[in-house]
Amino acid sequence: MIDLHLHSRASDGSLTPTDLVQLAAARGVRLLALTDHDSLDGLAEAGAAAQAAGIRFVPGVEISVTWEHKTLHVVGLNIAPGNAGLCAGLARLRAARGIRALEMGRRLSARGIHDACAGAQHLAGSDNVTRTHFAQWLSDQGHADTPQKAFQRFLARGKPGHVAMTWASMEESIGWIHAAGGRAVLAHPLRYGMTRTWLMQTLTAFKQAGGDAIEIICGRDNRDNIATAAHYALRFGFTASMGSDFHNPATPWLQPGIETPLPENLTPVWECF
Ligand code: AMP
Ligand code: MN
Ligand code: MN
Ligand code: MN
Repeated sequence: MIDLHLHSRASDGSLTPTDLVQLAAARGVRLLALTDHDSLDGLAEAGAAAQAAGIRFVPGVEISVTWEHKTLHVVGLNIAPGNAGLCAGLARLRAARGIRALEMGRRLSARGIHDACAGAQHLAGSDNVTRTHFAQWLSDQGHADTPQKAFQRFLARGKPGHVAMTWASMEESIGWIHAAGGRAVLAHPLRYGMTRTWLMQTLTAFKQAGGDAIEIICGRDNRDNIATAAHYALRFGFTASMGSDFHNPATPWLQPGIETPLPENLTPVWECF
């Protein structure tokens, strides 16, 4: 089994890189990429755990990108974790996360919810604070029944704790990944809630900027979505990736390892790894 999209505590996953790799290996994953949001911090530990478990490891990252006022995620696969340009670019995004966290805290304070920034930072345990940490803290504090509901009530676009961001540009993200020797993959293309016209424009821009691949299977995609993504990959000449986008074991329907095979007419992005 293959899984080229997973999160650890280095971003908004709940498992340590070691526990994540061991869980994936136990489930039968033989080729795994760790792809934390805007961070390479978990890669060394995950690589060592993969070696110990006897499975192949691909260093990865999921970069936050702003394109036409929309947030996109560009996964970098098979990157060199020591690359200076990539590290500097990601450090800039994490610094922006820190500033956003302060502003989210101020906005929630104005709604009578105090100390959210410190709470989220404590849960993150690093400089990589995500909205997932805010959602967890809000739910822990009883401001919502579940993190999912906290998201819907406070953190989604248009909600009181939401702060608009300018992440990396599409060109920057692809440039950092290529400079680090990796492949640039547009993550979960069908999950941005775009119209077909916008998605076509996004894929056109991603291709023009040098993007290499798109995710064909992400988590528990249904057959229609897989066929749609496969159609786009062929049409634009992208190779194909797949991964679970696993974050935590509390979602039994979404665990490491993709059991569905890639459609046969596509070229796997991992062929060149
Ligand atoms: P951030 O990059 O900090 O803005 O956080 C984005 C992360 O929040 C995503 O990677 C998801 O893991 C999570 N997320 C986004 N939307 C939702 C949602 N509606 N419900 C729960 N989690 C979400
Ligand atoms: Mn996430
Ligand atoms: Mn994503
Ligand atoms: Mn992800």
